[in-house]
Amino acid sequence: MKTLENKTALVTGGSRGIGAAIVKRLVSEGAVVAFTYVSGKTDADALVQEIAATGGKAIAIQADSADAAAITAAITATAAALGSIDILVNNAGIGTFKPFADITIEEYDKLMNINVRGLFVATQASLKYMGHGGRIINIGSTNSDRMPFAGGSIYAASKAAVQGFTTALSRDLGPLGITVNNLQPGPVHTDLNPKDGPFAEVLIPQISLGRYGTTDEVASFVAYLAGPEAAYITGASLNIDGGFKG
Ligand code: NDP
Repeated sequence: MKTLENKTALVTGGSRGIGAAIVKRLVSEGAVVAFTYVSGKTDADALVQEIAATGGKAIAIQADSADAAAITAAITATAAALGSIDILVNNAGIGTFKPFADITIEEYDKLMNINVRGLFVATQASLKYMGHGGRIINIGSTNSDRMPFAGGSIYAASKAAVQGFTTALSRDLGPLGITVNNLQPGPVHTDLNPKDGPFAEVLIPQISLGRYGTTDEVASFVAYLAGPEAAYITGASLNIDGGFKG
């Protein structure tokens, strides 16, 4: 039997990158998966079709993680379509990297609204539809602990917030039989951080394995945390970073 047979899941930011790999992996483990996107309708529709062609089921919902009402509506729609939300993966996130003095309050608010506030809203709203055995998996970043170059202050602050949120929330959710964990990737090849992009020259020498991670490697860890064998892991921040030193 597949590890996530009869399970339902919601992945925020699932149209591309790490989120899309997570959607595909959860489906391959037997889950039915809803995912959100903000503007990538073409990618989202293509992913739904790709999954349908393999016999799986996914649904795509447009919802900006910066917009609390949109997230709540997406979660209500997911629960109506799937009947429950057994697994929530808070993946949607953006990066703003620029000299500290140049960061505007608008950029700060946008990043925090997506990376932190949106995660709070999605978690609180999903819990209405999650029972004993539920799983919340937040995608943080190894940058909450390490930042190898200047310009990453607000991104690191947002991921450190995810780390603290996860640790503390496990106290609230433990008595409900729901686990919450923070998966912290190091450099992973996506549109956000291409392996031949502007950060790669600085990042690769900091990685023990000498290469970027793949989205499938992150998705594999998410599938493990979502599955029955990870029942005793909660409140943890877990790195998947190739030995990133930063
Ligand atoms: P990408 O930019 O490749 O993909 C981002 C995904 O999130 C897309 O599906 C995008 O949808 C969606 N998204 C972006 N903004 C919003 C929003 N406001 N509301 C809803 N969905 C949104 O990013 P990655 O896959 O690289 O990153 C995913 C997560 O992993 C992020 O939280 C990031 O911080 C974290 N991470 C990434 C690392 C890396 O090296 N790549 C390292 C450590 C952490 P659309 O297609 O509509 O734009």
